[in-house]
Amino acid sequence: RARLPSSSTPKRRMRKDVRILLVGEPKVGKTSLIMSLVSEEFPKVVPYRAEEITIPADVTPEKVPTHIVDYSEAEQTDEQLFQEISKANVICIVYSVNNKTSIEKATVRFRCHVLLNKMLCMWFRVPLILVGNKSDLVEHSSMETILPIMNRYSEIETCVECSAKNLKNISELFYYAQKAVLHPTGPLYCPERRDMKSLCVKALTRIFKVSDLDNDGILNDNELNFFQRTCFNTPLESQALEDVKNVVRKNLSDGVCDNGLTLTGFLFLHTLFIQRGRHETTWTVLRRFGYDDDLELNQDYLFPPLKLPPDCTTELNHNAYLFLQSIFDKHDKDRDCALSPEETSDLFDVFPYMPWGPDVNNTVCTNDQGWITYQGYLSQWTLTTYLDVQRCLEYLGYLGYSIIAEQESQASGITVTRDKKIDLQKKQTQRSVFRCNVFGDVGSGKSGFLQAFLGRNHMRQKTIREEHRSYYAISTTYVYGQEKYLLLHEVSPDFDTLSDADLACDIVCLFYDVSNPYSFEYCATVFKQYFMDSKVPCMMIAAKSDLPEIKQMYGCSPLEFCRRHKMPPPQSFTCNTAAAPSRDIYTKLTTMAMYPHVCQADLRSSTFWLRASAGATVCAVLGFAMYRVLLKPR
Ligand code: GDP
Ligand code: MG
Repeated sequence: RARLPSSSTPKRRMRKDVRILLVGEPKVGKTSLIMSLVSEEFPKVVPYRAEEITIPADVTPEKVPTHIVDYSEAEQTDEQLFQEISKANVICIVYSVNNKTSIEKATVRFRCHVLLNKMLCMWFRVPLILVGNKSDLVEHSSMETILPIMNRYSEIETCVECSAKNLKNISELFYYAQKAVLHPTGPLYCPERRDMKSLCVKALTRIFKVSDLDNDGILNDNELNFFQRTCFNTPLESQALEDVKNVVRKNLSDGVCDNGLTLTGFLFLHTLFIQRGRHETTWTVLRRFGYDDDLELNQDYLFPPLKLPPDCTTELNHNAYLFLQSIFDKHDKDRDCALSPEETSDLFDVFPYMPWGPDVNNTVCTNDQGWITYQGYLSQWTLTTYLDVQRCLEYLGYLGYSIIAEQESQASGITVTRDKKIDLQKKQTQRSVFRCNVFGDVGSGKSGFLQAFLGRNHMRQKTIREEHRSYYAISTTYVYGQEKYLLLHEVSPDFDTLSDADLACDIVCLFYDVSNPYSFEYCATVFKQYFMDSKVPCMMIAAKSDLPEIKQMYGCSPLEFCRRHKMPPPQSFTCNTAAAPSRDIYTKLTTMAMYPHVCQADLRSSTFWLRASAGATVCAVLGFAMYRVLLKPR
């Protein structure tokens, strides 16, 4: 017989304590059972009702403090019974095996209470255990009487025969009760159908996919060993591994494939654990992967605490990027460095919903087919981390980051940058994501500027559907040889809807349309109202520079305005190009965002820009070469 993986103490303790209530007809031996457990001998004389006792955690098999509560019809009212039922985590219905009517009476009577308080019981989902006491008095087991009752009520977790008199199965009884609370079979298994419940199958399927590191649909020995180590803290001996596979082979034709476990085999194995009463093994796996008692992912698992002081931003660290890269590699099956729609939906199969809408394709770089590229994929993760770190933690949780990357929690994949005021003081920054907010009147060319950053010219932009447009664009630029992310955000031209986030950024772009004489006034107004006295550097952009320039209807020319306010001169920009629009402007913006203290004279000097953009070319080439190297060994 195969040795199944052994369960050790679960890593996550689910419950503070366990409350066991004993009910049943008078004289079936409830009080004696409790006294026998405590004193380890059969008490000759017992009171009607035992005092509530508490067993300390360290002497119970599951290491959880356990309260045992007695009931006596003689001493307690129905009202008191009702209260005890609502407090209990598990209820033992005790009957006497030598008295058939006691079982019927006990269950029927108890049923009434359960029905009366159905809502309550469903809410607490109290498991029941049928306890046949006084087994010393009979030769034969009462199991035949019990089985139909067990089948009728799905709340009944298990049944046990015992004797308070010769101490048979006493500690087992309380162990089963404890286990019924800590590792209930109810959510996992349907006894009528003799099969796992759909939520359990769903959870185990996600676990399988997360653990299938190369995404070939099979858990090979390496993956199985990793799985065993993460869930049970012990390696699986190679003989045990073979035994497990043999059990599956014997029972299923498609459970083992290429000497690895298929999803069908994996699910079969868990069904087997549960059927053999080893469901704590399945629970250990489920809890390790973040599931709670309702087989939903735990809030504590999805949202680990992360302190976020003001004026700090959130970025992914190297470790998280490596993990995300491995996730990309595992799903980019055709190795074209882009995610096809099928590959994307496969990647997000471990999510409860599809996190990326069609707007994401217009937020990050895509290939000619409009599929998100490797760069685009990392950019989108960077964006989510920057704008909504909670969401990022949640997503990393679905992908099993903490488990696969062997980290404490998703929070260890996040870098919280230091306060921006310190960056400004020290005149240097360790950030790698910079936010540029783009202001400009309706039709001044903001969206075109965002899309051009993704390498899309005017022609290409016309194919974007209105409902798929995005107000963000993110990609990489190179500044002095360092790869940085620039996040562009198109701010709504309506002043009344401006939020704090619209004003807080590392650099501001002010857009006017050279062919529209009324478009500059907006820039001047925004600048004077919000940015004249702030430390945020501003850049004036003369958009649509392919069109004939018309004099702006404003007190001074844009060039004069910039000079007066110590801004660099307006930068001409057009996305109406044959090839992909020029990226120089984005490098300039990132540089200004990184070095806001650099004086304006420096910014105007051509050598400063030259140095910045020369670095960009070298690194763009290098970056490409490095990516090729990364791809090679696959
Ligand atoms: P309760 O009313 O359900 O609490 O039952 P008690 O614990 O007061 O027990 C009722 C009677 O059954 C007492 O006389 C006990 O000594 C006796 N009794 C309890 N457990 C056993 C048992 O396992 N075997 C035998 N033979 N008698 C038992
Ligand atoms: Mg009693």
